[in-house]
Amino acid sequence: MKGLADEPNHILELLGGGTTLEDVIDGHVQEQALVEKSVFVVADLGVLLRQHVMWQQTASQLTAYYPVKSNCSPAVIQVLASLGLGFVCANKGEISLVLDHGVPPENIIFSGVCKQLSHIKYAAKNGVDLLVCDNETELCKIARSHPSAKLLVQVTTWAQAAETSMAFGCSLKSCRRLLEAARALGVQVVGATFHIPASCKDLQAYSHALSDARCVFDMGVELGYSMSILDIGGGFSGSDYQLKQVMSAVQPLLEAYFPSMSGVQVIAEPGSYFVSSAFTLAVNVIGKKVFGRDWSGLVQGDLTPDDEPEFLYYLNDGVYGSFSSKLLGSTIPAPAVHKRASPGVEPVFSSSLQGPSLDILDHVVEHCLLPELLPGDWLVFHNMGAAGLDSPSTFTDASAPRPPVYYVVSTADWYEMQEAGVDLGDIMKTFSLVQYGA
Ligand SMILES: *Cc1c(COP(=O)(O)O)cnc(C)c1O
Repeated sequence: MKGLADEPNHILELLGGGTTLEDVIDGHVQEQALVEKSVFVVADLGVLLRQHVMWQQTASQLTAYYPVKSNCSPAVIQVLASLGLGFVCANKGEISLVLDHGVPPENIIFSGVCKQLSHIKYAAKNGVDLLVCDNETELCKIARSHPSAKLLVQVTTWAQAAETSMAFGCSLKSCRRLLEAARALGVQVVGATFHIPASCKDLQAYSHALSDARCVFDMGVELGYSMSILDIGGGFSGSDYQLKQVMSAVQPLLEAYFPSMSGVQVIAEPGSYFVSSAFTLAVNVIGKKVFGRDWSGLVQGDLTPDDEPEFLYYLNDGVYGSFSSKLLGSTIPAPAVHKRASPGVEPVFSSSLQGPSLDILDHVVEHCLLPELLPGDWLVFHNMGAAGLDSPSTFTDASAPRPPVYYVVSTADWYEMQEAGVDLGDIMKTFSLVQYGA
């Protein structure tokens, strides 16, 4: 994992007055137009604060633990740490990153159901005691190398199994065996965890998962454990509407199964929720092909005036760069066209977007509707914060430079952060603050 902290002197641009994110993108597009028209990213740190405020208003009974794998930019970790969030780490690198930002080890959950032994030892040495576990092999490793571990048993949910086609977590039946094995090995168990992805639209999933978690709590209590932490995972898209929907499903169930007087601490792991809309990616159109439809299907060139054209555009970034999440099965939503001279409503056409590699897999977006573009036009992809822009993936060409990230925050959000008690001094260690446009 390569953090942005390796690169010194990050600039955080403070947007005064009526300056918007669009103005910032505009400014960088114009700047880029004079040079290489390279890809760039704009990250609005104020989003993190606004999402935090919304969480406090709508989901305050759920303590938020941010999963580092969603986006490990030091700026993100720093702001969320300053807001007092806990963190979910999947390996030693993530734990050490979070500890470096001053997060107390008791606010860290070591997740992942299959951990490298040396990473478990590292957690033990650094006081990270909350570990997720869903199988006996893992349990034995933890018993040997982490004497003060406190386990959260990962319970499977059908929503997650349906999405990943691989079951994470254990069934209720194997939970009992796991708990008995833990007791035999003298390992402490303190609660249960599950995860329902945001793609699961059926809120019934929460009712199954919470009743299963209640069963695990009962089994634990029966075996003499003090069960005190319930972790309902991630799956919050970031929209106000979806958060309220999930909360309206979850709240009555929590009251029924885990009433507040029971003293159980309920936590959640919102990842995309915090970062998704904070990051925007701008890419340039570098090539174009036009197809027409005839009796044989799609053909290139020679359109008659009646043909409905279909366009294929080549971008200067693709799945081996900033769009690597596409290779992991994510759908990249259609971009917006950065504003051009031609005013008024333009007709739109079926368009596909392809990366620059000429590789057959390098499809970024298939069939979206866009006005006709020309090489040199810019496309803006919103909601890219959880799409892996922060760290090169397995598929990324390691020799290719990472796109620059321009960090911004509006003056209003900056003062609000101060009022919310965010330690801006720590942020100032990572960044130098400049007035936008200066
Ligand atoms: C990725 C991940 C999450 C975050 O999921 P979102 O749907 O982005 O909120 C939460 N918990 C764990 C263990 C994860 O791996």
